[in-house]
Amino acid sequence: MVGENGRCLVIGLDGGSPDLIRRWADEGKLPNLARLIEEGTFGHLRSTYPPISAAAWVTFLTGQEPGQHGIFDFRNYDPTRYTCTDEAIVNSTAFAGRTMLDVAGSYGRRVGAVTVPITYPTWPVNGAMVAGYPTPDAKRAFTYPPELGDRLGSLTEDSAFFRSRAPDEVARELIRLVRDRAEAARWMLENDAYDLFVVVFGATDRAQHDFWRHFDPGFPTHDPAEADRFGSVILEVYQEADRAVGRLLEAVPEETTVLVMSDHGAGPRATRYFHLNAWLTQEGLLQMRGGGGSPLRWTRPLYRAFKARFPYQEQVYRRLPAVLKRWASRVDSDAELGIGDVDWGRTVAYRFPMYPPVEGIVVNLRGRQPEGIVEPGAGYERLRDEIIDRLQGLTDPETGEPVVEAAFRREDLYRGDHLERVPDIVVVMSEGYEGGSALSGPFVTSIPEDDLRRLSGAHRMDGVLIAHGPAIRRGEGDGGARIVDLAPTILYALGVPVPSRMDGRVLVDLFEPGYVADHPVERVAWRGEGVEVEESGLSEEEESVIREKLRRLGYIE
Ligand SMILES: [Zn+2]
Repeated sequence: MVGENGRCLVIGLDGGSPDLIRRWADEGKLPNLARLIEEGTFGHLRSTYPPISAAAWVTFLTGQEPGQHGIFDFRNYDPTRYTCTDEAIVNSTAFAGRTMLDVAGSYGRRVGAVTVPITYPTWPVNGAMVAGYPTPDAKRAFTYPPELGDRLGSLTEDSAFFRSRAPDEVARELIRLVRDRAEAARWMLENDAYDLFVVVFGATDRAQHDFWRHFDPGFPTHDPAEADRFGSVILEVYQEADRAVGRLLEAVPEETTVLVMSDHGAGPRATRYFHLNAWLTQEGLLQMRGGGGSPLRWTRPLYRAFKARFPYQEQVYRRLPAVLKRWASRVDSDAELGIGDVDWGRTVAYRFPMYPPVEGIVVNLRGRQPEGIVEPGAGYERLRDEIIDRLQGLTDPETGEPVVEAAFRREDLYRGDHLERVPDIVVVMSEGYEGGSALSGPFVTSIPEDDLRRLSGAHRMDGVLIAHGPAIRRGEGDGGARIVDLAPTILYALGVPVPSRMDGRVLVDLFEPGYVADHPVERVAWRGEGVEVEESGLSEEEESVIREKLRRLGYIE
């Protein structure tokens, strides 16, 4: 029976789609998930803005919104720079010691975490941790305690995986990753008694990005011949994940509360680009330089060809002397964002790339941007309202469809200490559109077929939340559940008080009313008491290996 010391197993399926899970569970293809749904609750879980793994998993771990913990993407947002991000890759040192694992541990609960994204480098917890993606191949700080690493095989993506785009090889590697992680997690569960155990499988997300076009006959680059070979890869990965769920359930006590969740959902990739800068140019808010544009313009075709073909670009970059490094990163942001073509002295607003379906627009503010021209205060506010107004009525000139689902002032979508990192306006695209980088010409264009072959699945705002356990109700889940609510809810299931600085709420609707009546939600002022974390960032080499991996997966340019 669940008492003051509940146990909780959390199984994360990165990008796990509520629609696919529901459909395949109903068809009998995912028997273990079907049983959990049948005996527990099934519902949607709202992701973060943008719905990208870095922001969402850190929100999951900390129970804080991105505006509070400061991680919005794999790179740090920085609206004071025209490049929009700084060069660093985010890592666990930004939040280590302040997660639900640390809270539970400080109350004497034993915790285990296997391959939760952004947990590299690992830090001391009351239990064990295996770092999640992205991690460098080097073994430093891959597990806590370090000896654990000697017992476990390779649980992260093989570097061959990043080199090869051969679909059969990728499909095999995805299945291997699920199987090996499940075995490692099961071995840990059988050799220790954890009160809270979290394991995340990343293969579901990767499969959807790469194989959606084979699976979905309606997708523009669907090819029936290829679909014969690869049309079932997504299902096969979900079935392997379902088997993993079954194996993990066998290894935990019957009275364990089980959550199966995802950081965001999935669907077909957009087929139309909305070029925010081209639109701002048309509206007279962004001005291009005269006289042929950027002085670096001639390097772009060469640079792009080099970047697309040469597999070890990061390793070359790493060995460059500092002065060439600065030049290379200028060439890179010029080629990717076209910022060398912008006449900053006459530009009032420009695009801030986020992650589909979310985009940003930044006001070129005096005193904030290097060449800012818009006065802070009333002028800034009027400009933002005007841009939001125009965006909300915007339609695709070719199809007449609305391009934008909603546009927000940043403070209407985010709060917290890191609000200054968010672009002034946040735009959520309509289904079928994603941000493009053109500065001029039509502001909506078709995404080239080559691109739609490379990446055909994309993220959706709604992930999944399945809950099962002795205190969990049966039926539909909590209609308003958000990923920020999970840390408080998991602590509640463990019988641990919820720190008041967590933004999320306990999802009491998942639990039997009688249980909630007997167990009122308890909030405490917890500030990391009893948790020692050593501040150690990434070495330059680790960072460069990670950056290369993220680029190959399409998460950074
Ligand atoms: Zn993804």
